[in-house]
Amino acid sequence: MRVRGSCPNCRTDRLLPGLDTAGNSICRDCASITRDFFCDRCGFEGLLLGGRLCERCTLADTLARLLDDGTGQVALPLQPLVTTLLKMDRPKSWLFPGRQPGQPMNPVSLQVHLRKIGVPPQRGRTSAIRQLVLQAPAPVIAKALGYHDKTATRLVTEAGGTWSRYAPGDHTR
Ligand SMILES: [Zn+2]
Ligand SMILES: [Zn+2]
Repeated sequence: MRVRGSCPNCRTDRLLPGLDTAGNSICRDCASITRDFFCDRCGFEGLLLGGRLCERCTLADTLARLLDDGTGQVALPLQPLVTTLLKMDRPKSWLFPGRQPGQPMNPVSLQVHLRKIGVPPQRGRTSAIRQLVLQAPAPVIAKALGYHDKTATRLVTEAGGTWSRYAPGDHTR
C-alpha cells in the first residue's frame, strides 16, 4: 500500500495507493480515490497517522515531547540528533519498531556521554533517552551526537554490540 514511484498512467512521481485493472500501482487521481493522503501539516503525500499527519511530522512531535528539556524546547545539544532522526528514510520504523535494529547502545553509557557534551540529567529525560536508544541504531545516535567513528565503535563494543551487525535500513527483515 505504501508504494511510491512513477504512476504508469499519468507519469507523476508520487504515492501509488491504487491499482489498475492489470494490477499495476497507480496514483489516487488515476484510481479515482476520493480520500487524500496529504499530510495536514507539511503536505507530504504518504501514510498518514493520527491527526492526519505524515510519519515524519508524527516523529517530530514524538521526539519533541520525549526530549523536551522542560522549557518546551529540545535541549540544544540534542537538536542534531533530532535532525538526523527526522532525515532518516523510514520514520515509521522508528515510531513502531518491529525488531531491534542491530544492537542498541547501552543507555547508561550514552547518558554519561550526553552529560559530557553538556546535557544535564533531568527528570523524564532518562527514560526518554533509554526509549530512544533502544530503538535507534547506535551508529546513528553516535553520528548525530558528533562522535568519531572510533569513539562510537568503542561505545558500541562497551555496550556489547557489534558494529558490523548493523545494516542500514534493515529494520523489518
Ligand atoms: Zn496517475
Ligand atoms: Zn507531514
